[in-house]
Amino acid sequence: MFSTTQIGIDLGTANILVYTKNKGIVLNEPSVVAIDANTKEVLAIGNEAKNMVGKTPENIIAIRPLKGGVIADYQVTIDMLKQIMKKVSKQVGFSLGKPNVMVCIPAGSTSVERRAIHDAVKAFGAKQVDLIEETIAAAIGADLSVEEPVANVVVDIGGGTTEVAIISFGGIVTAHSIRVGGDKLDDDIIQYVRKKYNLLIGYRTAENIKMEIGFALVDHDELTMEIRGRDLVTGLPKTITLGSIEIQDAIRDPLLAILDTVRYTLENCPPELSGDIVDLGVTLTGGGALLKGMEEWLSNEIAVPVQIAENPLEAVAIGTGRSLSVLHKLQKKAK
Ligand code: ADP
Ligand code: MG
Repeated sequence: MFSTTQIGIDLGTANILVYTKNKGIVLNEPSVVAIDANTKEVLAIGNEAKNMVGKTPENIIAIRPLKGGVIADYQVTIDMLKQIMKKVSKQVGFSLGKPNVMVCIPAGSTSVERRAIHDAVKAFGAKQVDLIEETIAAAIGADLSVEEPVANVVVDIGGGTTEVAIISFGGIVTAHSIRVGGDKLDDDIIQYVRKKYNLLIGYRTAENIKMEIGFALVDHDELTMEIRGRDLVTGLPKTITLGSIEIQDAIRDPLLAILDTVRYTLENCPPELSGDIVDLGVTLTGGGALLKGMEEWLSNEIAVPVQIAENPLEAVAIGTGRSLSVLHKLQKKAK
């Protein structure tokens, strides 16, 4: 018997993950597309494209088509999805045919943006496309009891957005999202190094600095790191040593913006659910959760327990896939 393949897609601003029911996560690559600026032809996607960022001739440009969690470039997104599905077919060893697909959508997206995501996925040949709120997927993937009438609080810190939601009884009780995520930290590191050291560094370097010596606003023993860039005065390559304390200061603003959003969401929690938050705490997902000291800092600031999901970078994809089987079971029952 041929059954329809079921696929979950986490269409993140930084990373795209694809989950299939039997094999779990079968693809995890940066959401970057390298295209020929003249012909608009897609030259590479994913890791291959990300490795090209800032290193290619002018006619080859690397695009992140999902900036801010929404489709900024529709055609490129469709092209990227097509290439991704090709890769997935290779990975699983058979053609996907016309799969049923569940895609997560960012909390802050408008109905037009949702429609665009739906249509883009449909356009590459899906049989059925369903959308799920990203934060609900994150909560399911993080093993929270979303079906229970208790407050499950999820903070998903992605590349372009941070989404905070309180989920109870299978739905969102209250949610807020800001277009500030890990990318903003990278931007601020670039600005800081430029101003303080007259040194120009690229996005890859800034992201590495964040991952190696970036700390949320907590006390820590200082770490240092050697980095290279282009001296703005001489125009020549230069190496400097950066310390984690100065980097902490450089990324202060976006961190405080994230904190504000978490606070604001908790303040809007219905009182009957507030008690749960004290007991159950807040769960962090998304790559931003991996910033050193994040758990400790947030927990100090909001005075409730904070835990990081077991696999923060994969939680949304796992939840998206899992929710697909639940949905189709329900639909079969209804028939
Ligand atoms: P999205 O859902 O938007 O695709 P992800 O959840 O995949 O985003 O998270 C990507 C973000 O997480 C990027 O900004 C990346 O730099 C950041 N990130 C990944 N790993 C770490 C780490 N170890 N420390 C700090 N930030 C990290
Ligand atoms: Mg995400």
